[in-house]
Amino acid sequence: MDMHLTTRLVQDYLHLFVNRRAYTLQSMRPLPESSRHYYFRPRENGTERPAALTQSTIRQHLEGTITMGLYAINPTTQRCKWVAIDADYKNSMEDLLKLQYRLSEDNVQAALEMSKRGGHLWIFLRPPLLARECRIYIHNLALRLGVPVKEGLRDGIEVFPKHDTLRAGGFGNAIRGPLGIHREANRRFWFYGADHTLEAQMAYLNGLRRVTEADLRRFIAGEMMPSGVALPRPAPTPAWVYSGEKRGTEFDILHHVGKVRKVGRNYVTRCPSCAGAGHDRGGDNLAILVSDTRFYRCWAGCTKQMIRAALRCPIRMRQTA
Ligand SMILES: [Zn+2]
Repeated sequence: MDMHLTTRLVQDYLHLFVNRRAYTLQSMRPLPESSRHYYFRPRENGTERPAALTQSTIRQHLEGTITMGLYAINPTTQRCKWVAIDADYKNSMEDLLKLQYRLSEDNVQAALEMSKRGGHLWIFLRPPLLARECRIYIHNLALRLGVPVKEGLRDGIEVFPKHDTLRAGGFGNAIRGPLGIHREANRRFWFYGADHTLEAQMAYLNGLRRVTEADLRRFIAGEMMPSGVALPRPAPTPAWVYSGEKRGTEFDILHHVGKVRKVGRNYVTRCPSCAGAGHDRGGDNLAILVSDTRFYRCWAGCTKQMIRAALRCPIRMRQTA
């Protein structure tokens, strides 16, 4: 791709969007038998350490060779550089426009980004502001406007940051970094309000008024988090391969695979079938559902028969008449 990204553009992006060095990457390959890509936390080559987001990461994201996700909260400060409101349900654009209009009454200039369905509404903060106070502001606005908040199966907006605070070493939830190329949609999603070039888009975003701490304190004076705002729910899990055993009977894959890491609801480890073929050097192709280890899958598409065969514990074939 012939792109000439200036260092200035990359640095502007860093200053605007990056509040910590942890990040996520969208998988290059979709899940087998679907078009879904998933996000994972990359690690430094050959180590267990999380990879750090650098200007090179941003450059690759803007060039479209990778797609990164950004975390809102820096756990050392519990503060955010931005708030993003994600809405992807039917008529969600209407709700985002309502919010954008209401925010403008507070002199908050929110930028609306297109997405695969619906959009993301971004609000920029300077200096970084407390996640808890940002959430009090947005959730009260949504409540007054009658904009629904997602909960369980109920459609509604999702507010990033999704937590008031993070414990030390916590990550919270990541959202797709703007202006990259979505791997599923295979296209860039632009912000409304500026020409469709990276330069014009970043100039537009840089020109937006930032919310200050004094602004935010004024907006939320006397307000608390509305009751009923639910704690964040775990990310949806993919369709799991069901290994077919009854619980508690002989085979538990955890006894057969190597060292596992816990990532959200899953254990992640090297896929034995991939490893046998010289793949999965990253050691993270196999995901095992923590709450029920009968469910596991290889992101590269190995079947449970292949995995079990590689473990020398082949699945016994049912005798059929
Ligand atoms: Zn595999």
